[in-house]
Amino acid sequence: METLYLMRNIRLTPQTNVELATLRTQKWEIYDSSPTVTMLIKEQSFHFREGLTFTPFANAVPCNAHCRFCSEELQQKENHQPTALNYITDYEQYFTALEQALLAVKNLHIGLSLSGLEATAEPTWLLRLLEMLEKIQPVFKFDEKVLYTNGSGLLKYPKLIPALQAIGFDRIELSRCHTDQTINQSIMYFNRNEPIWQNTHYETLIKNLQGKLFVKNSCILTKKGTQTIEDIEAYLLWAISLDIKEVVLRELSRLDDSYMPNATLKWVEENRIPIEPLLQEIAPSYSEVRAGWTYLYSTVGYYYYNEHFLYQNKLEVILETSSYTALEKANQTGAIQKMVFHSNGNLCGSWNPDTNIIANFF
Ligand code: SF4
Repeated sequence: METLYLMRNIRLTPQTNVELATLRTQKWEIYDSSPTVTMLIKEQSFHFREGLTFTPFANAVPCNAHCRFCSEELQQKENHQPTALNYITDYEQYFTALEQALLAVKNLHIGLSLSGLEATAEPTWLLRLLEMLEKIQPVFKFDEKVLYTNGSGLLKYPKLIPALQAIGFDRIELSRCHTDQTINQSIMYFNRNEPIWQNTHYETLIKNLQGKLFVKNSCILTKKGTQTIEDIEAYLLWAISLDIKEVVLRELSRLDDSYMPNATLKWVEENRIPIEPLLQEIAPSYSEVRAGWTYLYSTVGYYYYNEHFLYQNKLEVILETSSYTALEKANQTGAIQKMVFHSNGNLCGSWNPDTNIIANFF
């Protein structure tokens, strides 16, 4: 099997039925800890996984959607101090601290993963972030920049599009769970004053983005929405009609037992569509692949496994599964796998603002 070590994951290209079958069975065991880099931050030494990403947790305002599966609604049994509810209020203090945090890690190769709540919901915050990134570019640059968004603010505040373009965003991952706007709305629950909930506005946004920013569609597979191979193919044809070149179909993350059994956890557990049966329909084996689909390769990361296909020779399609147990195992190696800058000024190796604290920059 051909194995290629990339900056953020390992690409594996099986060439036989046995190789693909083995890969599928052993997917959670393949990813060894990648090389780490040791660095001093405020005189303390830390080990960082090479190629990790940095997220300035976007929570200037509440999100304008209420996805039934939103990870911000999951409650950990211990240490649950969600950043989501601690909104960024003092922009001067926040951006000064964020700049210092970035400069403190400037010797690492890191990618920007802009997520948290909805980054486009507060254009003043996002524009200031972009301005700051541009200012520090002579001394610090991310090697990849990705925005995860529901698209709402890109539609309402079109000036965000050239600003993202100017700073060289590599792609935006645009969430949409179903081709039917009513079904999608029953999963994502956009606020009523957000026009993006309607397909006509969503499609207009995609047309406005074409040629400016690379758009990858992200569809969470759920029992309430896109779940069968027929649903998937309808979604892909819709994406092709909008000239989208890449779609990721994500399984809801497999959670460990560290979460409270609240409504979100229950919804996630009841509505998860595992990708394995879908993979069996698309490619039961390496040599037997569904009409219209071509298997390309698989990727494994520190807590996920993906299979990449080409659909109708027009669209790259990724089926993804991820596991919080694998994530926890990676965290236990002692190396920081992911950096999150929280609204309390803490730079952490965790989505929790009070655990794995690297340093506080307020
Ligand atoms: S758009 Fe993102 S942050 Fe907002 S509710 Fe949905 S998953 Fe949560």
